[in-house]
Amino acid sequence: MRMLDNCHEAAQSAQKAGRPIVGILCEYTPRELILAAGALPVCLCGGSAETIPAAEKDLPAGLCPLIKSTYGYEVTAANPFLEMASLLVAETTCDGKKKMYELMARRRDLYVLELPQKSDSPQGLALWRGELEKFRDHLRQRFGRPMTDDDLRAAIALMNRERAVRRKLAELMARPEPPLTGRQVLSLKSSISCLEADLAMYDSALAELSAAPGLPGRRVRVLLTGVPVVSGAERVVDLIEQLGGLIVAQDNCTGLKPILEDVDPAAADPLWALAEKYFHLPCSVMTPNTRRLEGLEQLAKTYRPDCVIELIWQGCLTYAVESALVRELVEEKLRLPYLKIETDYSPGDSARLSLRIEALLETAKS
Ligand code: SF4
Ligand code: SF4
Repeated sequence: MRMLDNCHEAAQSAQKAGRPIVGILCEYTPRELILAAGALPVCLCGGSAETIPAAEKDLPAGLCPLIKSTYGYEVTAANPFLEMASLLVAETTCDGKKKMYELMARRRDLYVLELPQKSDSPQGLALWRGELEKFRDHLRQRFGRPMTDDDLRAAIALMNRERAVRRKLAELMARPEPPLTGRQVLSLKSSISCLEADLAMYDSALAELSAAPGLPGRRVRVLLTGVPVVSGAERVVDLIEQLGGLIVAQDNCTGLKPILEDVDPAAADPLWALAEKYFHLPCSVMTPNTRRLEGLEQLAKTYRPDCVIELIWQGCLTYAVESALVRELVEEKLRLPYLKIETDYSPGDSARLSLRIEALLETAKS
């Protein structure tokens, strides 16, 4: 699969054709609005350890590596997509990101969406819809396109198409003998949404894999939960699968979380429909975040894991605190072995992590 290459070519030719590139940094940003404005939404989350030293000149060493890596790309100008982007869209999620954006905004054109954090609050939802309306108006003005409700509905239908095919690919892992690894599922994800070439690639991968036999050998089925595993930061995923695990479901933002729910393409108020979908994304910045626990229970029923591994990036307080509730659910309700891994992007602890993962997989087998 050449999804990253596709993205690079697509971004370059879009730029040549005068189509704006808009960088996004979180799954709360509705890509539909950016697509309806005639722009290309590109994910800019950093997964490289190499850009972290440059970031640490401004940011504390104990901060989450995802935030440091993203900022490191910005200060080193090493991400071609970021350099092509004429606008960045950020959001008020965790404190580290929020404050990092203030530093980034010194040099980049950055728009911040204010995300209310009580996901069951009707007032919060109304405020969020208002935020999306302001963002739509900003995009209209910025890119000089009228962006009608019908433009939005068309973008919603396109994103639904992409979510549906990615969901079907992920569902192949529910089979007793899945035809691909969790790492392969992770690599079947583009940095730019709704490129025709990528949609065609998803469709052909689905057709091919639907007819493919299961992977040989008995592997321990793992449900991976927690923080996003962005491109370049797959070390723990690789360790789990090298040690005999098979990640059958990933509930994080690079996995199932953003693609489980669609948006009604015929909604009378498409902004409201978008607000509802994105406001209900179960990130640990929300309080309470009961939807995440309900989602995990549902995933356990569908994907039948033998154990659960929770990955938390060092310095991520919201996921670290929430892990007490996840452990309780997994051990007491789902009755499955649970392992929490807190780490960063450097490989220094790989040997220690391998021992802990091996022990978990042994327990899960017995
Ligand atoms: S984990 Fe939360 S903050 Fe991070 S990308 Fe997902 S929604 Fe955004
Ligand atoms: S992993 Fe945690 S600390 Fe890092 S960006 Fe996401 S929510 Fe923030």
